[in-house]
Amino acid sequence: MTTPAFEALAAQLRGPIIQPGDEGYDSARVVYNAMHDRKPAVVVRAQDTGDVVAAVNYAREQGLLLAIRGGGHSVPGFGTCDDGVVIDLGGMNSVFVDSARKTVRAQGGCTLGDLDHATHAYGLAVPGGVVSTTGLAGLTLGGGMGHLSRSRGLSIDNLQSAEVVTADGNVLTCDANNHPELFWAIRGGGGNFGVVTSFEFAGHDVRTVFAGPTFFKVDGDVMRNYETLITTGPEELNALFAIVIAPPVPFVPEDWHKQHVMVALTCWSGSEDEDDSIAKTVSELGEVVGQALRRMPYPQVNTFFDELLPPGLRHYWKANTSLGFTDEVIAEHLKHGPRVLTLESGIFIFPINGACHRVGTDDTAFANRHIKLSAVIAGTWHDAGDDAANIAWVKDYYEALKPWSEVGGYVNFMAVDEQDLLDRNYVAKFQRLQEIKATYDPGNLFRVNQNIAPM
Ligand code: FAD
Repeated sequence: MTTPAFEALAAQLRGPIIQPGDEGYDSARVVYNAMHDRKPAVVVRAQDTGDVVAAVNYAREQGLLLAIRGGGHSVPGFGTCDDGVVIDLGGMNSVFVDSARKTVRAQGGCTLGDLDHATHAYGLAVPGGVVSTTGLAGLTLGGGMGHLSRSRGLSIDNLQSAEVVTADGNVLTCDANNHPELFWAIRGGGGNFGVVTSFEFAGHDVRTVFAGPTFFKVDGDVMRNYETLITTGPEELNALFAIVIAPPVPFVPEDWHKQHVMVALTCWSGSEDEDDSIAKTVSELGEVVGQALRRMPYPQVNTFFDELLPPGLRHYWKANTSLGFTDEVIAEHLKHGPRVLTLESGIFIFPINGACHRVGTDDTAFANRHIKLSAVIAGTWHDAGDDAANIAWVKDYYEALKPWSEVGGYVNFMAVDEQDLLDRNYVAKFQRLQEIKATYDPGNLFRVNQNIAPM
């Protein structure tokens, strides 16, 4: 169906515009999480900022629901919608590196893989997340934690400026001096304030890392030892802690295949001379079942999960944040961790300290800056028939940890049913976010997200 307004939009665009019935509609409407089978009225595959402006104006003027898609990884499915407009930035995935200034400008549709690939050529890295197919935009707007967080901070801690298309169709550049409130809000406040068409980051000299998993027999002492190491060890040592089912890989003995294990997914970005001592230190966390640590180009450490987690699986995730592994917390992990149902699921715990704690709590909108451990209880499975069991595992685990957890969690790990926690999540920052929202998006055009309604 076309209308004069639709024809006018189509005439303004460089990128394709796709409607129901068009060839490619079914691939244009899908997102990473197969739980979300939505049918938008229009998908605009933006090629440049001009396309984004045209599509934002169209959605606003036509009163249509608007979803913005960076990498499409949002587990609650915020990269799509029913009957509205989807702006898919996936075609805007160029990265420009200024090697003299060590800055990196990345377009709003980049994946972390696009970013890593481009920066690695210059011996640089920008802190991102741990799966290369994740979108840079959604990840950064929520905070961005990964293998370089302890030493180089969250993604937002390295953000220097951004180009944003606001709800009125204006193109703004925000940084510490220009639209500073907007710049503050997009560092942790999610996609509430406009469409980010490009980000400028500080790059770091990281070419290779010593990285890989160490699997341990499930034991509370592994958690205690991990917490000590990850809070007192050198900042170049990062390790994602997990409880998962051991995959059938060569470095894990066969009798451990498909058994529940604890994992320290280590990434040492310090000197190569210390690789051996790092391997030894990590091995001492507990009884080792298998280990595969080696030196590798930095981008490789962000591809470990790629094969295990292709698009099209079903996901239900919930966020948990805490100040540490007390005996009570460990007891709940020992009860619920070994109930993980699938090879793709697990609890994954990111350390928040070091460089992350050197940024002031109020310097960015990121909630829970003070916490020590940011966890995602990640349920991932293949068949719709298994929805109930997997969702129940996530919810039970979440409820069990709740009494010893901070309220809310990392917005990028929160489920769609956690929207009512947002005010307590951002606490004192929530009102400031609402005021900024009222300035830049008074009509709440950008509401397919962890939504902060205007004041
Ligand atoms: P999308 O679904 O495209 O978008 C997510 C949200 O951001 C939506 O609200 C959308 O409207 C908004 N948005 C997207 N692009 C833009 C834009 N250009 N401008 C404005 N708003 C935009 N997080 C971490 O911090 N570290 C990790 O290691 C990590 N690993 C993950 C691994 C997997 C397999 C998955 C599924 C998620 C992971 N996450 C991680 C969480 C991730 O940060 C969020 O899912 C994030 O929302 C993904 O961003 P996206 O652009 O791919 O998602």
